[in-house]
Amino acid sequence: YTGKTGMELLTEKIKQFKVYEYQSVPIVVKENASVYDAISTMFLEDVGTLFVVDQNSFLTGVLSRKDLLRASIGNQELNAIPVHIIMTRMPNITVCYRNDLLIDAAKKLIDKQIDGLPVLKESEKGFEIVGRITKTTITKVFVELVMDEHL
Ligand code: ADP
Repeated sequence: YTGKTGMELLTEKIKQFKVYEYQSVPIVVKENASVYDAISTMFLEDVGTLFVVDQNSFLTGVLSRKDLLRASIGNQELNAIPVHIIMTRMPNITVCYRNDLLIDAAKKLIDKQIDGLPVLKESEKGFEIVGRITKTTITKVFVELVMDEHL
């Protein structure tokens, strides 16, 4: 017996969770996609956050549901507005990396009050997007922690 409390054991376990173990597939649109395209993609892929990439698949922006709602209010020409005009853009994007701790990604979601983070991998030319971590990711892990206890 280690003499550790249940809470200490739980904390140790949580601090072993890495972003790459839990990340899901990032849903992306190109910079020249229209606001209309982005709204369609958001519905078809059933996600709340889209990531915007350039021709080389490097991350350039983020689109949330409210970004798209804001752009749509009182605007009939949604096919004519490219998403790069309304997106939150680099370098103002909060990101995480494959090898980060999941708990650190979760803290960023809370601190910045956002729903999702892109998971990046650094290459010679820039930052490639390889995944996403969202509030849903964290909620699933929270539930799994309790479910595993009953196996
Ligand atoms: P919603 O707008 O649906 O409430 P969010 O809270 O995720 O969704 O987004 C709030 C704002 O923050 C939006 O303008 C969005 O573009 C921006 N945003 C979302 N995710 C990120 C991120 N990872 N880094 C920086 N800004 C982000």
